[in-house]
Amino acid sequence: MPVVDLRSDTVTKPTPEMRQAMFEAEVGDDGYGEDPTVNALEALAAEMMGKEAGLFVTSGSQGNATAMMVHVGKGDEVICEASAHIYGVETGAMAALSGAQPHPVPGVHGKLTPELIEPHVRSRKSNRPRTALIEVENTHNFAGGTYYTPAELAAIRQFADRHSLPIHMDGARIFNAAVAQNVNVRELAQYADSIQFCLSKGLAAPVGSLVVGTKDFIQQARRYRNMLGGSMRQAGVIAAAGIVALKTMVQRLCEDHLHARMLAEAANGTRLKVDMAAVQTNIVMVDVSPLGMTAVQMVEKLLQHGIKVNPISRDSFRLVTHKDLSRGDIEYAIGVLKKLG
Ligand SMILES: *Cc1c(COP(=O)(O)O)cnc(C)c1O
Repeated sequence: MPVVDLRSDTVTKPTPEMRQAMFEAEVGDDGYGEDPTVNALEALAAEMMGKEAGLFVTSGSQGNATAMMVHVGKGDEVICEASAHIYGVETGAMAALSGAQPHPVPGVHGKLTPELIEPHVRSRKSNRPRTALIEVENTHNFAGGTYYTPAELAAIRQFADRHSLPIHMDGARIFNAAVAQNVNVRELAQYADSIQFCLSKGLAAPVGSLVVGTKDFIQQARRYRNMLGGSMRQAGVIAAAGIVALKTMVQRLCEDHLHARMLAEAANGTRLKVDMAAVQTNIVMVDVSPLGMTAVQMVEKLLQHGIKVNPISRDSFRLVTHKDLSRGDIEYAIGVLKKLG
């Protein structure tokens, strides 16, 4: 029986080319800014995103945390989508580390609009938290990998400018958003002041994320990265894999998207329910309630057939496609879904 791991794209292993690049990486002490491979990765990331500077961080959570520490402080409030990663699954880091509180706003397919945000911008009365930042997630993890279009982001940018609010984009999977729409990632990045994106998900690098923004922003973020213990010395060994990820692993994401669509259509052909409008990239949310069981029960049954998935709520589980799944794995998973659904 094959084991098909659809829990997350974080399970991806580094490619042979990454291993080779790691082996050969030139390194130095990044605490002194002397690791040439880290410097090359940060420059490449900034260039690809159309920003002035980049910062290599240990994880997406550390990237978001450092960005929050630069953007906001005590008494501030961050408008984010109600099921945002930064709000629900980063151990309360925003409040704990920056001192700001999240202000969650339910979106549509995980997406905010100026109309949805507007009523939540606080008046400037002295007893109100200060609305200080808009945070958007692109693609949106718990909404099932949905993406913002450039036009949707442009509208939020216009609104933010009217209210003098910066925008942070949690772009953990921003390349999925770009590839799915066949646009250059800069088309999406241009609307945010700062962006965090992950190397260790669909791009298959073993470790790391980047934060990009202005030179001044990144200089401050670097200080906070230090504060969080994120200064990593000869980190070129892992940055080397990140460079390979950015250079070779982006375009192939379309294969993951095709696989997600195949799984979604198959599940939808059973009693399982999938909101097909939300299937836009490499994540599929599956509703098990028509089967009269809970997600946890279904996850257990799938596991008995070698299929690993994560329950997300009482009624739903999540399928995430990635580069370590072959067409054969997907076809096997489809067979199991058809049998159990
Ligand atoms: C995975 C993820 C993160 C955090 O990344 P880690 O490297 O796991 O800390 C942040 N935001 C979103 C949307 C994610 O999916």
